[in-house]
Amino acid sequence: MAILSILTVPDPLLKKISTAVKTVDDDLRILMDDMLETMYAAPGIGLAAIQVGRPIRVLVMDLSEDEAPPDPQFYINPEIAWVSEELATYNEGCLSVPEQYADIDRPAECKLNYLDYHGTRQNIHATGLFSTCIQHELDHLNGIVFIDYLSALKRSMYVRKVKKLVKEED
Ligand code: ZN
Repeated sequence: MAILSILTVPDPLLKKISTAVKTVDDDLRILMDDMLETMYAAPGIGLAAIQVGRPIRVLVMDLSEDEAPPDPQFYINPEIAWVSEELATYNEGCLSVPEQYADIDRPAECKLNYLDYHGTRQNIHATGLFSTCIQHELDHLNGIVFIDYLSALKRSMYVRKVKKLVKEED
């Protein structure tokens, strides 16, 4: 496995709409394994392929508690089939917007269709943090980063902070 480099805002690639995966094969599984390792190393709880520069509809997530065994999850071509009217607010962060957080409202629950690691069709009803996280990751596949929900002023402030942070790390 390999650790990939994570794109940060304002990289224009993060605005790109990712395309559907046609075949779930070993090449894709290698990418998903690398994405998972990259996410764990960051550390983070979710990562979309576009965040490592690959514009395809693939997500990895792990929402297990710190002390619990790992629970890697893989979502290929995820599609939202239903969202609740009720909203939930979470203080969201993103590996592409390091060290910045904001309260974001999203549907509290959602239903999702996707292909798993082996290419088998699955569906799931997501609630709580899982629902928020999967919607956040799915947004990446449509070129949306959570700061896009904020005012233009706040967004440019966040982008400026990230640019400074990235420069300091170089
Ligand atoms: Zn993100």
